[in-house]
Amino acid sequence: MSGETTRGASAERHDVVVVGAGPTGLVLAGELALGGVDVAVVERRTERTVVGTRARGMHARTLEVFDQRGILERFLAEGTVAQTQGFAGIRLDIADFPSRHPHGLALWQCHTERLLEDWVLERGVPVRRGVSVVDFTEHAEDLEVALDDDSRIRARYVVGCDGGRSTLRKRAGIEFVGFDPTTSWIMGEVRLEEPRLGLRDEGGGIGPAGRGRFGVVLPEPALQRGDDPTEDQLRGAMRAAYGTDFALREPRWIARFTDMTRQAASYRRGRVLLAGDAAHVHPPQGGQGLNTGVQDAVNLGWKLAQVIAGVSPDSLLDTYHHERHPVAARVLHNTRAQVALSTPGESHRALRELMTELLAMEGPRKHVAAMLTALDVAYDLGGGHPLVGRRMPDLDLVTPEGATRVATLFHRAQPVLLTFGERAFDLVRWPRVRLVTAERTTGWELPVLGAVPETEAVAIRPDGQVAWAGDLDDPSLPQVLSRWFGSDATGGREAPGR
Ligand SMILES: Cc1cc2nc3c(=O)[nH]c(=O)nc-3n(C[C@H](O)[C@H](O)[C@H](O)COP(=O)(O)OP(=O)(O)OC[C@H]3O[C@@H](n4cnc5c(N)ncnc54)[C@H](O)[C@@H]3O)c2cc1C
Repeated sequence: MSGETTRGASAERHDVVVVGAGPTGLVLAGELALGGVDVAVVERRTERTVVGTRARGMHARTLEVFDQRGILERFLAEGTVAQTQGFAGIRLDIADFPSRHPHGLALWQCHTERLLEDWVLERGVPVRRGVSVVDFTEHAEDLEVALDDDSRIRARYVVGCDGGRSTLRKRAGIEFVGFDPTTSWIMGEVRLEEPRLGLRDEGGGIGPAGRGRFGVVLPEPALQRGDDPTEDQLRGAMRAAYGTDFALREPRWIARFTDMTRQAASYRRGRVLLAGDAAHVHPPQGGQGLNTGVQDAVNLGWKLAQVIAGVSPDSLLDTYHHERHPVAARVLHNTRAQVALSTPGESHRALRELMTELLAMEGPRKHVAAMLTALDVAYDLGGGHPLVGRRMPDLDLVTPEGATRVATLFHRAQPVLLTFGERAFDLVRWPRVRLVTAERTTGWELPVLGAVPETEAVAIRPDGQVAWAGDLDDPSLPQVLSRWFGSDATGGREAPGR
């Protein structure tokens, strides 16, 4: 079904409207299109962003989920593979992690967004730019989204991926719980005369940005809240930090962020869902915001697609909040700790030195790095085998069709029952689930936890998280398959449990 345009109050109609073409909205739109959903994106900005003022890159789990969709090469071709992850600037190496991509990718957010939008457009999703959503009205069967050009779109669900100041969140009356900002940082790309390069103990510093230019990030002498920082304010922050502005000139861009830390009390109210910065904001220390938003979208997309297709009940959407809210809560928590470590003062300096010592040790390094990269995310899906709720390792596989690997099985965002061995399993009741039989293989290992027991079969959700692992005659397997992927026998109406 595509958007039909007629004259009248509700001219356009889609299954889902995604508000915001930032990284979260674009990934969600792509996921929904993969799931066969008629989705449209509405974006306030008339043009794509072309300068890099926000995220500088992505962490390993985001690279893995792009790999699952077969689009990772596009990002690798433009970015720089590196050990980018750091805790309050303390570098953490993950080269020894059991991941196909044990590293980060340095790539400015504007390029990430361009590559994602190209992917979404290739899938035929309309991206309507230069219009803002201002309100919505919910009805029994759908809702009506009001735009600032006086047009309206009817949809069964609307997802607010509209950033930290989310109109959708406010109009839905969802509380944004947390802390007001206490500190602001100013950043920019500029020319400087013989600057002092390197990170400062208090956080921020000056680094090369290529072609004789420099990137600057510094705390401001007093909290500033405005979105339009000036060259004078950047000079002021440099003088406060270094006693000089290094003859700053020719700023290409200047931006500001604060340590405001807030999270939506609920990621869903009726037909309205929230994802990305609309659901959680925090300071950028550790570089987790874009990553968390992308992974929200990958968690929500297949669930919404199944509900729209009628194979799963609407209650499947509640698992999105149950799974993703604790993940972002943890991100908010660790960014507050990073802000504390970056705060000027002798006692903070001592704490920072101690943390640097600790993070050089294997156990703490792995623990914190797995958290920052989201490789340790474990949803509460009821326990059992250690893989349940966690990401499936990207095992090398030999199947009757040839050699492949786990990530490749998810290019179409379909659930998979992966079996190792001779025994058959009849999936006739679960037509959405793809059966893949492979020879036994090695590599059953998770970051931090290490080796996990091999099993005869693993049921993997389209987001790459394990729903079940065990023997094929485990009586809970049919229940798990119906719970997560619907079933013909029940008409797909079994409510998902936690
Ligand atoms: C300085 C800085 C550095 C950062 N570094 C990193 C990093 O290294 N790694 C990382 O993971 N994250 C980083 N982040 C965080 C990251 O930029 C955000 O988490 C990310 O942009 C969130 O994506 P989003 O799509 O949820 O929201 P946004 O990127 O904010 O996108 C929201 C979109 O919605 C649109 N919109 C808003 N309201 C409406 C409306 N009413 N109608 C229609 N459209 C609307 C906006 O125009 C925008 O395009 C950084 C952030 C900052 C500020």
